[in-house]
Amino acid sequence: WTGTNYEWSEKVENVLNNIFKIIAFRPKQLSVINSTLSNQHTIVVMPTGAGKSLCYQLPALIKPGLTIVVSPLISLMEDQVRSLNKKNVSAKYISSSSSKDETSAALNVLKDKATDVKLLYVTPERFAKSKRFMSNLQKCHADGRLQRIAIDEVHCCSQWGHDFRPDYKYLGILSNMFPNVPILGLTATATAHVLTDVQKILNIPGCLVIKSTFNRPNLFYKILEKPTSQDECITILEKLLKYRYRDETGIIYTNSIKDTEDITQGLRKRGLKVECYHANLDSEARSKVHLKWHDKHYQAIVATVAFGMGIDKADVRFVIHYTISKSMENYYQESGRAGRDGLRAECVTLYRMQDIFKVSTMVFSSVGSLDHLYGMIKYCLNGTYCRRQLIAEHFDEDWGNTDCNKMCDVCCQPENNLKEINLELHCKTISSIIENAEKQDTKLTAQKLIDAWFLKGPVPLRHKGKEPNFSRNIGEDVIAYLITNNFIIEDFHFTAYSTISYLKRGVNMDVVSDPNFSLKMPIRKYSSFE
Ligand code: ADP
Repeated sequence: WTGTNYEWSEKVENVLNNIFKIIAFRPKQLSVINSTLSNQHTIVVMPTGAGKSLCYQLPALIKPGLTIVVSPLISLMEDQVRSLNKKNVSAKYISSSSSKDETSAALNVLKDKATDVKLLYVTPERFAKSKRFMSNLQKCHADGRLQRIAIDEVHCCSQWGHDFRPDYKYLGILSNMFPNVPILGLTATATAHVLTDVQKILNIPGCLVIKSTFNRPNLFYKILEKPTSQDECITILEKLLKYRYRDETGIIYTNSIKDTEDITQGLRKRGLKVECYHANLDSEARSKVHLKWHDKHYQAIVATVAFGMGIDKADVRFVIHYTISKSMENYYQESGRAGRDGLRAECVTLYRMQDIFKVSTMVFSSVGSLDHLYGMIKYCLNGTYCRRQLIAEHFDEDWGNTDCNKMCDVCCQPENNLKEINLELHCKTISSIIENAEKQDTKLTAQKLIDAWFLKGPVPLRHKGKEPNFSRNIGEDVIAYLITNNFIIEDFHFTAYSTISYLKRGVNMDVVSDPNFSLKMPIRKYSSFE
């Protein structure tokens, strides 16, 4: 598919240079374009920022007819239509925020044989909820003008993905309704499991899947131990911003609006120029923050994940996660906003066990979510395996002998950075504490479990053995390991105000009876980063 001797190849080259003003394709773009222009159903998996939009925008201009682009985000549709119009490419969108007249005009494009519109953007619910849209679409097809259907964020079809959206399942009718129209699905985030599911839902089994690499060689990955008090955490952020990232711009992600506000306040008190960004700000305030950050007026935006789509700043030098993401997919996307210019940038995550429960109590109710979260925890706990290899393998990419070039903390940690812990003995102790608590009808939080293990807290919960001969932080890592490997399972209880995660026994821990079974836990001190 990489060839340049197709009947359309010359035109493709021309449109690339003259309309998009781009000199050369990025990896896999040409393959996708050739595949979809050959009328193949195709799914494209490319990291954020790799240039997926071009894969449907350019083919739309090669042959006569109309390309329908399905996109879940109104702001993204607006951006793209605006930028296409600037290139003198005629494009329109229909969204819930369009006026009646705008919607009518856009719907007429489907019936109007003389229209010059090449791309029509719609949200997925259009297919489910608008009869007029569907009948006009059928008319467009009957006239032979429906050239291609591009589905952005196509992983939203699958319940196994991290971002399932029910309206996407209505797209399953398209391949039967318009059998000769190629479907082009695009996503940044799909494991083999999700990809198969997406093909099933869209009724395009065995379609061509084109993946580009997930490796971002210029991003340095690092996990840091997160202190227990917010004040100490802010001190770490302060040091990073004042020294390591002096005169540079970046993003600090948290998982709550309150955290964004607290941290912004804390950092401002220490003389730093930062601003917060979250869903409670109105859109005017949001654009203002975004713009001022873009112009380097703020060194960092402290944001929830509401700050994401539409960031087009190429020189983001750091993305710090104050709280872990809810999945590796989310983490990859969020951290991937760093270093789009190809220069070195850093992705730092502050991790401590307590945050697992902050996130798990938020995500546990959706399908597959705990597994996704545990994938993220495993990434944080890891101290023996190259982080970019871990990421690549998460996305089912063959890593081979690719070199990390010492661009992750694991690949450049000192030799004595790992604490080896024999699990056999500790598992017996931990298991007995949980069993004992169950007998006493006491609900164990992770905190209580660790207390009991380290011979602190209520005496009846403690065990009879000795206190572990390592730090509590390492103890937390052991518990987190046991949770993410289902030896201990989270049991969620609701109160009027919150959801609490209690721990109970999962897979029989006796399987960890091999006396040689040990864990190597990394030491993630901030000092290692100075
Ligand atoms: P994605 O949808 O994969 O996240 P986009 O389609 O938004 O990425 O593209 C990211 C940026 O890269 C855009 O500014 C786009 O114009 C630019 N871009 C895409 N392809 C190329 C290319 N071949 N050469 C240079 N820039 C490109």
